[in-house]
Amino acid sequence: MRTERNRTERWTLRLGGVSYEIQVAYKQMRSIRLRVLPGGELRLSAPIGIEPERLRDFIEQRAGWIAANTERMKAQRLEPQGRPAPLTEKERRDALRCLMPLVEKWYPAVEPYGVVMPHVTVRAMTTRYGTCSVGRARITLNAMLVQAPAECAEYVVLHELTHFLYPNHGRQFYAFIESHMPDWRERERRLRAGERRAQAGQQT
Ligand SMILES: [Zn+2]
Repeated sequence: MRTERNRTERWTLRLGGVSYEIQVAYKQMRSIRLRVLPGGELRLSAPIGIEPERLRDFIEQRAGWIAANTERMKAQRLEPQGRPAPLTEKERRDALRCLMPLVEKWYPAVEPYGVVMPHVTVRAMTTRYGTCSVGRARITLNAMLVQAPAECAEYVVLHELTHFLYPNHGRQFYAFIESHMPDWRERERRLRAGERRAQAGQQT
């Protein structure tokens, strides 16, 4: 076999209806390695001379892992910097009044599985749209969701409620969300794109 130098290619692959850009680097190595970089970019390193079909199989077998981890890493890059000022009591109350109806609207999706109505808190957060504490039956929503389109805030609410059923972002987690909200990807995209509610203070 002739000696080849390291080289890289760019692939675009469709996995589960989603298109992914993957940078493929051929190197002096024995195994295949797949990584997700902050921002969601995929990097595959593979031995020089390996057949493309083997790489394609390798990637396709990991479609679930790729979907979950690119979402997670995209979210990391979107973290704004700095610590937001804590909410005043009035801001917290107003935000809760705006977001609570969305929790009440989506709670019935998880209620049949024995999930108790969670305690809902609102905070100014930098790194997340929402968090879920399964043990404490609590979800915390980012106050900025008040400014997001209601459909996008609803996606976050359903996402956090779904964590009471599936703690991780596995295949079943997203299958559950998809069964209740088939257009969740679009809602999430709009949220990450920073889309705002049409009119400030608009009621949901
Ligand atoms: Zn989550």
